[in-house]
Amino acid sequence: MSPPHIAIVGGGIAGLSAAWYVQQRGLSYTLLEQSDRWGGKLLTEWIDGFVVEGGPDSFITQKPWGVQLARELGLGERLLGTNDAARKVYVLHKGRPTPLPDGVLLIVPTKFKPFVLSSLISPLGKLRMGLDLIIPARRDGQDETLADFVTRRLGREALDKIAEPLLSGIYNAEADKQSLLATFPRFRQLEQEHGSLTRGILASRRSRQAAPQPSANGKAPSMFVSFTGGVEELVQALCAQLTGNLRLHCPVAALRRLDQRGFALDLADGSTLQADAVILATPAFVAADLLAEQAPEAAAGLAGIRYVGTGTISLAFRRADLPAQLPGFGVVIPASERRPINAITVSSVKFDGRAPEGTVLLRAFFGGSRSPQSMALDDEALLRTVRGELRSLLDIDAQPLLHRIYRWPRSNPQYDVGHLERVAAIEAALPAGLWVTGSPYRGVGIPDCVKQAQDTAAAVSDYLS
Ligand SMILES: Cc1cc2nc3c(=O)[nH]c(=O)nc-3n(C[C@H](O)[C@H](O)[C@H](O)COP(=O)(O)OP(=O)(O)OC[C@H]3O[C@@H](n4cnc5c(N)ncnc54)[C@H](O)[C@@H]3O)c2cc1C
Repeated sequence: MSPPHIAIVGGGIAGLSAAWYVQQRGLSYTLLEQSDRWGGKLLTEWIDGFVVEGGPDSFITQKPWGVQLARELGLGERLLGTNDAARKVYVLHKGRPTPLPDGVLLIVPTKFKPFVLSSLISPLGKLRMGLDLIIPARRDGQDETLADFVTRRLGREALDKIAEPLLSGIYNAEADKQSLLATFPRFRQLEQEHGSLTRGILASRRSRQAAPQPSANGKAPSMFVSFTGGVEELVQALCAQLTGNLRLHCPVAALRRLDQRGFALDLADGSTLQADAVILATPAFVAADLLAEQAPEAAAGLAGIRYVGTGTISLAFRRADLPAQLPGFGVVIPASERRPINAITVSSVKFDGRAPEGTVLLRAFFGGSRSPQSMALDDEALLRTVRGELRSLLDIDAQPLLHRIYRWPRSNPQYDVGHLERVAAIEAALPAGLWVTGSPYRGVGIPDCVKQAQDTAAAVSDYLS
Protein backbone atom coordinates (compact mmCIF):
# COMPACT_ATOMS: atom_id res chain seq x y z
CA MET A 1 0.00 0.00 0.00
CA SER A 2 1.38 3.46 -0.87
CA PRO A 3 1.77 5.90 2.04
CA PRO A 4 -1.04 8.44 2.51
CA HIS A 5 -0.77 11.60 0.46
CA ILE A 6 -1.98 15.12 1.34
CA ALA A 7 -3.01 17.84 -1.11
CA ILE A 8 -2.44 21.38 0.16
CA VAL A 9 -4.17 24.04 -1.93
CA GLY A 10 -2.80 27.62 -1.79
CA GLY A 11 0.85 28.66 -1.53
CA GLY A 12 0.54 31.67 0.78
CA ILE A 13 2.13 31.61 4.24
CA ALA A 14 -0.65 29.33 5.55
CA GLY A 15 -0.20 26.72 2.80
CA LEU A 16 3.61 26.88 2.89
CA SER A 17 3.63 26.49 6.70
CA ALA A 18 1.13 23.63 6.49
CA ALA A 19 3.51 21.92 4.03
CA TRP A 20 6.42 22.50 6.41
CA TYR A 21 4.63 21.01 9.44
CA VAL A 22 3.24 18.09 7.43
CA GLN A 23 6.79 17.44 6.21
CA GLN A 24 8.10 17.59 9.80
CA ARG A 25 5.69 14.77 10.58
CA GLY A 26 7.15 12.66 7.77
CA LEU A 27 4.02 12.81 5.60
CA SER A 28 3.92 13.01 1.82
CA TYR A 29 2.24 16.04 0.19
CA THR A 30 1.67 18.10 -2.93
CA LEU A 31 1.39 21.89 -2.59
CA LEU A 32 -0.64 23.51 -5.35
CA GLU A 33 -0.53 27.24 -6.08
CA GLN A 34 -2.49 28.91 -8.84
CA SER A 35 -0.17 31.86 -9.49
CA ASP A 36 3.42 32.06 -10.74
CA ARG A 37 4.94 32.74 -7.31
CA TRP A 38 4.93 31.43 -3.75
CA GLY A 39 4.05 33.53 -0.71
CA GLY A 40 0.59 34.95 -1.51
CA LYS A 41 0.46 38.29 0.26
CA LEU A 42 4.09 38.07 1.41
CA LEU A 43 5.86 39.95 -1.37
CA THR A 44 9.16 41.84 -1.17
CA GLU A 45 10.90 43.56 -4.06
CA TRP A 46 14.53 44.63 -4.00
CA ILE A 47 14.84 47.73 -6.19
CA ASP A 48 18.04 49.84 -6.46
CA GLY A 49 18.98 49.16 -2.82
CA PHE A 50 15.42 49.68 -1.49
CA VAL A 51 13.61 46.82 0.25
CA VAL A 52 10.01 47.37 -0.82
CA GLU A 53 7.20 45.43 0.85
CA GLY A 54 3.99 44.94 -1.13
CA GLY A 55 1.99 43.29 1.68
CA PRO A 56 3.02 42.71 5.30
CA ASP A 57 6.21 44.42 6.47
CA SER A 58 6.59 42.66 9.84
CA PHE A 59 4.93 40.35 12.33
CA ILE A 60 4.20 40.43 16.03
CA THR A 61 6.49 38.53 18.41
CA GLN A 62 4.01 38.22 21.30
CA LYS A 63 2.41 35.48 19.22
CA PRO A 64 5.52 33.27 19.08
CA TRP A 65 4.77 31.01 16.10
CA GLY A 66 6.23 33.26 13.39
CA VAL A 67 9.56 33.64 15.18
CA GLN A 68 9.58 29.90 16.02
CA LEU A 69 9.12 29.01 12.35
CA ALA A 70 11.88 31.43 11.37
CA ARG A 71 14.25 29.78 13.85
CA GLU A 72 13.29 26.26 12.69
CA LEU A 73 14.25 27.36 9.16
CA GLY A 74 17.62 28.71 10.34
CA LEU A 75 16.57 32.35 9.94
CA GLY A 76 17.15 33.31 13.60
CA GLU A 77 20.13 35.50 12.74
CA ARG A 78 18.18 37.24 9.96
CA LEU A 79 15.37 38.43 12.27
CA LEU A 80 15.30 42.21 12.38
CA GLY A 81 13.50 44.15 15.12
CA THR A 82 11.97 47.58 14.66
CA ASN A 83 14.19 50.57 15.26
CA ASP A 84 12.72 51.26 18.69
CA ALA A 85 14.88 54.30 19.45
CA ALA A 86 12.83 56.13 16.80
CA ARG A 87 9.47 54.58 17.78
CA LYS A 88 6.82 57.27 17.76
CA VAL A 89 3.38 56.97 16.23
CA TYR A 90 1.25 59.88 15.11
CA VAL A 91 -2.50 60.09 14.70
CA LEU A 92 -4.01 62.47 12.19
CA HIS A 93 -6.11 64.96 14.15
CA LYS A 94 -7.91 67.79 12.35
CA GLY A 95 -5.62 67.31 9.36
CA ARG A 96 -2.31 67.41 11.29
CA PRO A 97 -0.19 64.50 12.56
CA THR A 98 -0.43 64.58 16.37
CA PRO A 99 1.77 62.33 18.53
CA LEU A 100 0.10 59.44 20.27
CA PRO A 101 0.86 60.28 23.92
CA ASP A 102 3.91 58.54 25.30
CA GLY A 103 2.95 55.48 27.33
CA VAL A 104 -0.30 54.60 25.51
CA LEU A 105 -0.33 50.80 25.55
CA LEU A 106 -2.75 49.38 22.97
CA ILE A 107 -5.51 51.84 23.86
CA VAL A 108 -4.99 52.80 27.47
CA PRO A 109 -2.66 55.46 28.89
CA THR A 110 -0.03 54.12 31.28
CA LYS A 111 1.80 57.43 31.87
CA PHE A 112 -0.13 60.26 33.50
CA LYS A 113 1.73 63.41 32.43
CA PRO A 114 2.10 62.85 28.66
CA PHE A 115 -1.53 61.77 28.49
CA VAL A 116 -2.82 64.81 30.37
CA LEU A 117 -0.71 67.16 28.24
CA SER A 118 -1.67 65.53 24.90
CA SER A 119 -3.85 67.52 22.50
CA LEU A 120 -5.15 64.36 20.82
CA ILE A 121 -8.03 63.79 23.28
CA SER A 122 -10.15 66.61 24.76
CA PRO A 123 -10.26 67.12 28.57
CA LEU A 124 -13.76 65.61 28.69
CA GLY A 125 -12.59 62.66 26.57
CA LYS A 126 -9.73 62.06 29.02
CA LEU A 127 -12.11 62.09 31.99
CA ARG A 128 -14.36 59.65 30.16
CA MET A 129 -11.39 57.31 29.62
CA GLY A 130 -10.75 57.43 33.37
CA LEU A 131 -14.26 56.07 34.03
CA ASP A 132 -12.93 52.72 32.81
CA LEU A 133 -11.60 52.28 36.34
CA ILE A 134 -15.10 52.18 37.84
CA ILE A 135 -17.48 50.96 35.12
CA PRO A 136 -18.58 47.37 35.96
CA ALA A 137 -17.28 44.58 33.73
CA ARG A 138 -19.53 42.80 31.23
CA ARG A 139 -19.73 39.17 32.26
CA ASP A 140 -22.16 37.44 29.87
CA GLY A 141 -19.41 36.04 27.60
CA GLN A 142 -21.21 37.26 24.46
CA ASP A 143 -19.38 38.76 21.48
CA GLU A 144 -19.70 42.49 20.77
CA THR A 145 -18.17 44.93 18.29
CA LEU A 146 -14.82 46.56 19.04
CA ALA A 147 -16.66 49.91 18.81
CA ASP A 148 -19.20 48.87 21.48
CA PHE A 149 -16.49 47.57 23.78
CA VAL A 150 -14.25 50.63 23.55
CA THR A 151 -17.15 53.09 23.77
CA ARG A 152 -18.55 51.23 26.78
CA ARG A 153 -15.24 51.22 28.66
CA LEU A 154 -13.31 54.27 27.44
CA GLY A 155 -15.72 56.47 25.52
CA ARG A 156 -16.27 57.68 21.98
CA GLU A 157 -13.11 59.78 21.65
CA ALA A 158 -10.84 56.88 22.61
CA LEU A 159 -12.56 54.88 19.90
CA ASP A 160 -12.33 57.60 17.27
CA LYS A 161 -8.75 58.76 17.96
CA ILE A 162 -6.98 55.60 19.12
CA ALA A 163 -8.84 52.28 18.83
CA GLU A 164 -10.38 52.76 15.39
CA PRO A 165 -7.23 53.86 13.50
CA LEU A 166 -4.81 51.62 15.40
CA LEU A 167 -6.77 48.46 16.19
CA SER A 168 -9.35 48.31 13.41
CA GLY A 169 -6.58 49.53 11.10
CA ILE A 170 -4.60 46.32 11.67
CA TYR A 171 -7.56 44.30 10.39
CA ASN A 172 -8.69 46.83 7.79
CA ALA A 173 -11.96 46.39 9.62
CA GLU A 174 -14.91 48.59 10.52
CA ALA A 175 -14.94 49.01 14.31
CA ASP A 176 -18.72 48.89 14.40
CA LYS A 177 -18.75 45.45 12.75
CA GLN A 178 -15.45 44.00 14.03
CA SER A 179 -15.79 41.09 16.48
CA LEU A 180 -14.09 41.75 19.81
CA LEU A 181 -13.77 38.06 20.62
CA ALA A 182 -12.23 37.16 17.24
CA THR A 183 -9.76 40.06 17.13
CA PHE A 184 -8.97 41.24 20.66
CA PRO A 185 -10.21 38.50 23.04
CA ARG A 186 -7.57 39.54 25.57
CA PHE A 187 -9.40 42.83 26.18
CA ARG A 188 -12.48 40.96 27.38
CA GLN A 189 -10.33 38.65 29.47
CA LEU A 190 -8.56 41.60 31.13
CA GLU A 191 -11.89 43.32 31.75
CA GLN A 192 -13.22 40.21 33.47
CA GLU A 193 -10.11 39.47 35.50
CA HIS A 194 -9.43 43.04 36.67
CA GLY A 195 -12.82 44.74 36.39
CA SER A 196 -11.23 47.40 34.14
CA LEU A 197 -9.22 47.36 30.93
CA THR A 198 -6.76 49.96 32.23
CA ARG A 199 -6.08 48.01 35.44
CA GLY A 200 -5.75 44.80 33.40
CA ILE A 201 -3.24 46.24 30.93
CA LEU A 202 -1.20 47.81 33.75
CA ALA A 203 -1.17 44.47 35.60
CA SER A 204 0.01 42.51 32.56
CA ARG A 205 2.71 45.11 31.93
CA ARG A 206 3.89 44.72 35.54
CA SER A 207 4.06 40.94 35.23
CA ARG A 208 5.96 41.21 31.92
CA GLN A 209 8.43 43.61 33.52
CA ALA A 210 8.85 41.23 36.48
CA ALA A 211 9.70 38.32 34.18
CA PRO A 212 11.19 39.73 30.96
CA GLN A 213 11.57 37.29 28.07
CA PRO A 214 15.04 37.86 26.61
CA SER A 215 15.48 37.14 22.91
CA ALA A 216 18.20 34.86 21.56
CA ASN A 217 20.76 37.71 21.57
CA GLY A 218 19.88 38.61 25.19
CA LYS A 219 18.24 41.93 24.24
CA ALA A 220 14.60 42.69 25.01
CA PRO A 221 12.66 41.41 21.99
CA SER A 222 11.10 43.93 19.67
CA MET A 223 7.30 43.80 19.50
CA PHE A 224 7.46 43.51 15.70
CA VAL A 225 10.10 41.83 13.55
CA SER A 226 10.93 41.32 9.91
CA PHE A 227 14.06 39.92 8.24
CA THR A 228 17.15 41.74 7.05
CA GLY A 229 15.99 41.25 3.46
CA GLY A 230 12.25 41.73 4.07
CA VAL A 231 9.39 39.36 4.93
CA GLU A 232 9.72 37.33 1.74
CA GLU A 233 12.86 35.77 3.21
CA LEU A 234 10.49 33.53 5.15
CA VAL A 235 8.93 32.32 1.91
CA GLN A 236 12.31 31.76 0.27
CA ALA A 237 13.56 29.72 3.25
CA LEU A 238 10.40 27.60 3.24
CA CYS A 239 10.61 26.93 -0.50
CA ALA A 240 14.30 26.01 -0.20
CA GLN A 241 13.58 23.45 2.53
CA LEU A 242 10.29 21.94 1.39
CA THR A 243 11.01 18.56 -0.19
CA GLY A 244 7.47 17.59 -1.26
CA ASN A 245 5.89 18.08 -4.66
CA LEU A 246 5.56 21.88 -5.16
CA ARG A 247 3.56 23.04 -8.18
CA LEU A 248 3.08 26.62 -9.36
CA HIS A 249 0.62 27.64 -12.15
CA CYS A 250 -1.66 24.97 -10.79
CA PRO A 251 -5.14 26.22 -9.86
CA VAL A 252 -7.44 23.62 -8.38
CA ALA A 253 -10.65 23.87 -10.39
CA ALA A 254 -12.83 21.31 -8.61
CA LEU A 255 -12.77 18.86 -5.76
CA ARG A 256 -14.65 15.56 -5.42
CA ARG A 257 -14.96 13.08 -2.58
CA LEU A 258 -14.13 9.52 -3.53
CA ASP A 259 -16.35 6.61 -2.51
CA GLN A 260 -13.87 4.74 -0.34
CA ARG A 261 -11.71 7.39 1.26
CA GLY A 262 -10.01 10.54 0.06
CA PHE A 263 -10.51 13.15 -2.61
CA ALA A 264 -9.87 13.84 -6.30
CA LEU A 265 -8.69 17.34 -7.22
CA ASP A 266 -9.26 18.49 -10.79
CA LEU A 267 -6.42 20.74 -11.88
CA ALA A 268 -6.75 23.42 -14.50
CA ASP A 269 -4.36 21.56 -16.87
CA GLY A 270 -6.95 18.76 -17.11
CA SER A 271 -5.12 16.32 -14.83
CA THR A 272 -6.43 14.91 -11.55
CA LEU A 273 -4.62 14.51 -8.24
CA GLN A 274 -5.80 11.94 -5.71
CA ALA A 275 -5.21 12.58 -2.04
CA ASP A 276 -6.15 10.93 1.24
CA ALA A 277 -6.52 14.30 2.96
CA VAL A 278 -6.88 17.89 1.74
CA ILE A 279 -5.91 21.21 3.33
CA LEU A 280 -7.52 24.26 1.74
CA ALA A 281 -5.28 27.28 2.47
CA THR A 282 -6.99 29.55 -0.06
CA PRO A 283 -9.21 32.58 0.54
CA ALA A 284 -12.56 31.48 2.04
CA PHE A 285 -14.52 32.33 -1.12
CA VAL A 286 -12.30 29.94 -3.14
CA ALA A 287 -12.84 27.19 -0.55
CA ALA A 288 -16.60 27.95 -0.76
CA ASP A 289 -16.61 27.39 -4.54
CA LEU A 290 -14.59 24.18 -4.25
CA LEU A 291 -16.95 22.78 -1.59
CA ALA A 292 -20.26 24.01 -3.03
CA GLU A 293 -21.39 20.54 -4.16
CA GLN A 294 -19.57 18.30 -1.69
CA ALA A 295 -20.31 20.22 1.52
CA PRO A 296 -22.98 22.88 0.84
CA GLU A 297 -23.43 23.84 4.49
CA ALA A 298 -19.71 24.49 5.00
CA ALA A 299 -19.62 26.27 1.62
CA ALA A 300 -22.44 28.62 2.66
CA GLY A 301 -20.56 29.51 5.86
CA LEU A 302 -17.34 30.09 3.92
CA ALA A 303 -19.11 32.26 1.35
CA GLY A 304 -20.46 34.38 4.23
CA ILE A 305 -16.99 35.58 5.27
CA ARG A 306 -16.84 39.12 3.93
CA TYR A 307 -13.71 40.49 2.23
CA VAL A 308 -12.44 43.97 1.43
CA GLY A 309 -9.63 44.96 -0.93
CA THR A 310 -6.63 47.05 0.09
CA GLY A 311 -3.42 48.32 -1.43
CA THR A 312 -0.07 49.88 -0.66
CA ILE A 313 2.10 52.37 -2.48
CA SER A 314 5.78 52.77 -1.62
CA LEU A 315 7.61 55.97 -2.55
CA ALA A 316 11.33 56.68 -2.26
CA PHE A 317 12.77 60.17 -1.80
CA ARG A 318 16.13 61.85 -1.37
CA ARG A 319 16.41 62.73 2.34
CA ALA A 320 17.58 66.24 1.47
CA ASP A 321 14.33 66.87 -0.44
CA LEU A 322 12.12 66.18 2.62
CA PRO A 323 11.27 68.35 5.63
CA ALA A 324 13.60 67.90 8.62
CA GLN A 325 10.82 66.42 10.77
CA LEU A 326 9.35 63.08 9.73
CA PRO A 327 6.55 61.48 11.77
CA GLY A 328 8.48 58.68 13.59
CA PHE A 329 7.27 55.26 12.40
CA GLY A 330 4.33 56.92 10.69
CA VAL A 331 0.81 58.30 10.89
CA VAL A 332 -2.48 56.44 11.31
CA ILE A 333 -5.59 58.15 9.98
CA PRO A 334 -8.95 57.82 11.77
CA ALA A 335 -11.90 57.08 9.49
CA SER A 336 -13.50 60.29 10.77
CA GLU A 337 -10.76 62.35 9.05
CA ARG A 338 -12.17 61.12 5.70
CA ARG A 339 -8.92 60.98 3.71
CA PRO A 340 -8.22 58.91 0.56
CA ILE A 341 -5.48 56.96 2.41
CA ASN A 342 -5.55 55.06 5.72
CA ALA A 343 -2.01 55.37 7.07
CA ILE A 344 1.58 56.26 6.17
CA THR A 345 4.59 54.28 7.39
CA VAL A 346 8.11 55.66 7.29
CA SER A 347 9.52 52.26 6.31
CA SER A 348 13.18 53.28 6.41
CA VAL A 349 12.83 54.63 9.96
CA LYS A 350 10.78 51.67 11.21
CA PHE A 351 13.44 49.19 10.01
CA ASP A 352 17.13 49.73 9.32
CA GLY A 353 18.45 48.81 5.89
CA ARG A 354 15.27 49.54 3.95
CA ALA A 355 16.74 52.42 1.91
CA PRO A 356 20.25 53.41 0.77
CA GLU A 357 22.13 56.13 2.69
CA GLY A 358 20.68 59.60 2.07
CA THR A 359 17.24 58.34 1.02
CA VAL A 360 13.89 57.64 2.69
CA LEU A 361 11.25 55.04 1.90
CA LEU A 362 7.60 55.80 2.72
CA ARG A 363 4.56 53.59 2.32
CA ALA A 364 0.90 54.62 2.17
CA PHE A 365 -2.06 52.28 2.69
CA PHE A 366 -5.37 52.67 0.89
CA GLY A 367 -8.66 50.83 0.32
CA GLY A 368 -10.76 48.83 2.75
CA SER A 369 -13.81 50.50 4.24
CA ARG A 370 -11.95 53.78 4.95
CA SER A 371 -10.96 54.71 1.43
CA PRO A 372 -12.59 52.24 -1.01
CA GLN A 373 -12.64 54.97 -3.67
CA SER A 374 -8.83 54.84 -3.92
CA MET A 375 -8.93 51.16 -4.98
CA ALA A 376 -10.83 52.27 -8.09
CA LEU A 377 -8.21 54.85 -9.19
CA ASP A 378 -5.81 54.00 -12.01
CA ASP A 379 -2.10 54.09 -11.18
CA GLU A 380 -1.57 57.64 -12.37
CA ALA A 381 -4.54 59.05 -10.45
CA LEU A 382 -3.56 57.06 -7.36
CA LEU A 383 -0.01 58.41 -7.43
CA ARG A 384 -1.36 61.95 -7.84
CA THR A 385 -3.75 61.46 -4.92
CA VAL A 386 -1.10 60.02 -2.62
CA ARG A 387 1.39 62.76 -3.48
CA GLY A 388 -1.36 65.28 -2.69
CA GLU A 389 -1.80 63.64 0.71
CA LEU A 390 1.94 63.69 1.42
CA ARG A 391 1.97 67.39 0.55
CA SER A 392 -1.01 68.20 2.71
CA LEU A 393 -0.21 66.00 5.73
CA LEU A 394 3.60 65.93 5.82
CA ASP A 395 4.64 68.95 3.68
CA ILE A 396 6.37 66.63 1.21
CA ASP A 397 6.37 68.19 -2.24
CA ALA A 398 9.43 66.47 -3.77
CA GLN A 399 9.38 64.23 -6.83
CA PRO A 400 9.79 60.58 -5.72
CA LEU A 401 12.89 58.72 -6.94
CA LEU A 402 10.67 55.70 -7.54
CA HIS A 403 7.27 54.35 -6.58
CA ARG A 404 5.61 50.93 -6.57
CA ILE A 405 1.88 50.18 -6.28
CA TYR A 406 0.53 46.86 -4.97
CA ARG A 407 -3.19 46.17 -5.19
CA TRP A 408 -4.76 43.35 -3.21
CA PRO A 409 -8.39 43.05 -4.31
CA ARG A 410 -10.63 40.93 -2.06
CA SER A 411 -7.68 40.34 0.23
CA ASN A 412 -8.72 41.11 3.79
CA PRO A 413 -11.19 38.74 5.47
CA GLN A 414 -13.51 40.61 7.83
CA TYR A 415 -13.97 39.17 11.30
CA ASP A 416 -17.48 40.49 11.90
CA VAL A 417 -19.31 39.91 15.21
CA GLY A 418 -20.06 36.18 15.52
CA HIS A 419 -17.00 35.22 13.44
CA LEU A 420 -15.76 32.52 15.83
CA GLU A 421 -19.18 30.85 15.86
CA ARG A 422 -19.26 30.97 12.07
CA VAL A 423 -15.82 29.34 11.87
CA ALA A 424 -16.79 26.63 14.37
CA ALA A 425 -19.91 25.88 12.30
CA ILE A 426 -17.84 25.71 9.09
CA GLU A 427 -15.35 23.33 10.69
CA ALA A 428 -18.14 21.11 12.00
CA ALA A 429 -19.67 20.89 8.50
CA LEU A 430 -16.46 19.94 6.65
CA PRO A 431 -16.19 16.41 5.28
CA ALA A 432 -13.85 14.05 7.18
CA GLY A 433 -10.32 14.33 5.80
CA LEU A 434 -10.62 17.97 4.70
CA TRP A 435 -9.48 21.08 6.57
CA VAL A 436 -9.54 24.81 5.92
CA THR A 437 -6.72 26.92 7.34
CA GLY A 438 -5.24 30.41 7.15
CA SER A 439 -6.16 34.06 7.42
CA PRO A 440 -9.94 33.78 6.93
CA TYR A 441 -10.44 31.79 10.13
CA ARG A 442 -8.52 32.18 13.39
CA GLY A 443 -6.25 35.19 12.96
CA VAL A 444 -5.00 37.18 9.97
CA GLY A 445 -1.41 37.89 11.03
CA ILE A 446 1.57 35.84 9.87
CA PRO A 447 2.04 34.14 13.29
CA ASP A 448 -1.70 33.28 13.39
CA CYS A 449 -1.46 31.68 9.94
CA VAL A 450 1.63 29.68 11.02
CA LYS A 451 -0.11 28.50 14.20
CA GLN A 452 -3.24 27.42 12.31
CA ALA A 453 -1.06 25.53 9.83
CA GLN A 454 0.72 23.79 12.72
CA ASP A 455 -2.60 22.77 14.31
CA THR A 456 -3.98 21.61 10.97
CA ALA A 457 -0.89 19.48 10.27
CA ALA A 458 -1.33 17.84 13.69
CA ALA A 459 -5.02 17.13 12.99
CA VAL A 460 -4.24 15.68 9.53
CA SER A 461 -1.51 13.49 10.98
CA ASP A 462 -3.92 12.15 13.65
CA TYR A 463 -6.55 11.49 11.01
CA LEU A 464 -4.18 9.60 8.72
CA SER A 465 -2.76 7.47 11.48
C1 LIG B 1 -1.44 45.13 2.46
C2 LIG B 1 -1.37 44.10 3.56
C3 LIG B 1 -0.56 44.33 4.66
C4 LIG B 1 -0.49 43.38 5.68
N1 LIG B 1 0.34 43.61 6.73
C5 LIG B 1 0.55 42.64 7.65
C6 LIG B 1 1.57 42.76 8.61
O1 LIG B 1 2.31 43.77 8.63
N2 LIG B 1 1.77 41.74 9.48
C7 LIG B 1 1.02 40.59 9.44
O2 LIG B 1 1.26 39.68 10.26
N3 LIG B 1 0.04 40.42 8.51
C8 LIG B 1 -0.20 41.41 7.62
N4 LIG B 1 -1.15 41.25 6.64
C9 LIG B 1 -1.98 40.03 6.66
C10 LIG B 1 -1.23 38.82 6.12
O3 LIG B 1 -0.32 39.21 5.14
C11 LIG B 1 -2.20 37.83 5.50
O4 LIG B 1 -3.30 37.61 6.37
C12 LIG B 1 -1.54 36.50 5.22
O5 LIG B 1 -0.36 36.69 4.45
C13 LIG B 1 -2.52 35.61 4.48
O6 LIG B 1 -1.91 34.37 4.24
P1 LIG B 1 -2.76 33.15 3.66
O7 LIG B 1 -1.80 32.07 3.34
O8 LIG B 1 -3.91 32.87 4.56
O9 LIG B 1 -3.45 33.71 2.33
P2 LIG B 1 -2.84 34.22 0.95
O10 LIG B 1 -1.55 34.89 1.13
O11 LIG B 1 -3.96 34.95 0.29
O12 LIG B 1 -2.57 32.87 0.15
C14 LIG B 1 -3.59 32.13 -0.47
C15 LIG B 1 -3.01 31.52 -1.73
O13 LIG B 1 -3.99 30.68 -2.34
C16 LIG B 1 -3.82 30.76 -3.74
N5 LIG B 1 -5.02 30.25 -4.40
C17 LIG B 1 -6.23 30.85 -4.48
N6 LIG B 1 -7.09 30.07 -5.18
C18 LIG B 1 -6.42 28.95 -5.53
C19 LIG B 1 -6.78 27.77 -6.26
N7 LIG B 1 -8.02 27.56 -6.75
N8 LIG B 1 -5.82 26.81 -6.46
C20 LIG B 1 -4.55 26.98 -5.96
N9 LIG B 1 -4.18 28.10 -5.28
C21 LIG B 1 -5.09 29.06 -5.06
C22 LIG B 1 -3.56 32.24 -3.96
O14 LIG B 1 -2.97 32.50 -5.22
C23 LIG B 1 -2.63 32.57 -2.78
O15 LIG B 1 -1.27 32.43 -3.12
C24 LIG B 1 -1.26 42.18 5.60
C25 LIG B 1 -2.09 41.96 4.50
C26 LIG B 1 -2.14 42.89 3.48
C27 LIG B 1 -3.02 42.63 2.28
